[in-house]
Amino acid sequence: MGVRLSHRCAAVSDIGLRRMLNQDAYLLNAVLGFFAVADGMGGPPGGDVASRLAVTSLCDYMTEHPGLPADDSLRGGFRKAQQVILGEAERMPELREMGTTLVAARIAVNEISVAHIGDSRAYLFREGKLLPLTEDHSVVNDGIRMGMLSREAARLDPRRHILTRALGSDAPAEPSLAHAVMEPGDRLLLCTDGLTGMIDDSVIAGCLSRREPPIDCCRRLVEAALDAGGSDNITVVLVDSGS
Ligand code: MN
Repeated sequence: MGVRLSHRCAAVSDIGLRRMLNQDAYLLNAVLGFFAVADGMGGPPGGDVASRLAVTSLCDYMTEHPGLPADDSLRGGFRKAQQVILGEAERMPELREMGTTLVAARIAVNEISVAHIGDSRAYLFREGKLLPLTEDHSVVNDGIRMGMLSREAARLDPRRHILTRALGSDAPAEPSLAHAVMEPGDRLLLCTDGLTGMIDDSVIAGCLSRREPPIDCCRRLVEAALDAGGSDNITVVLVDSGS
């Protein structure tokens, strides 16, 4: 039934130009068609621990439950990530305030399921256009949605890093889910705010439309964010459809 697309994928994570630590993490599992990016929260210690626990717990869950429908496996993986992070926070009091975003995609045949918490994003790039698959769980995005803040103002708003949902925090840990069909030529991008906070969607679309192999494209995106100031850690995962 159907044709299994082979997914060509790559990831690049860069510390950026201003941070002492890379608190982003990512996961590629081309065999299971499973991809994730996490951005550990700065401020309280342990952001790097939280982001790594998030992607590894999610991966463990997906690997242990290979037969589940995509949405169930994503929801279960997020729940497990939350449990593991909270458990570790309890064990290590100095990490009790650690938290992280998480965006994950599962691709089965050509069906993409995306789950996310926080402001790490997923986009589908199709025919030159960048289609967002996620909506940031952030204070400024709530402001944009309510018409109280423009996108330009949000970019400079001092509250731009404040999340309304995160893993590991008291905030709700329920992921938002989205779905899309991956058509030949489509590219799926997962990224942290170190990319989207530095360069516009139009610049991202410009990089993706060059049709380079995923690894070159990932490097080009990271370069663009560094050229724009690189004030945060930058992580990108890019998955190409088979043909
Ligand atoms: Mn970040």
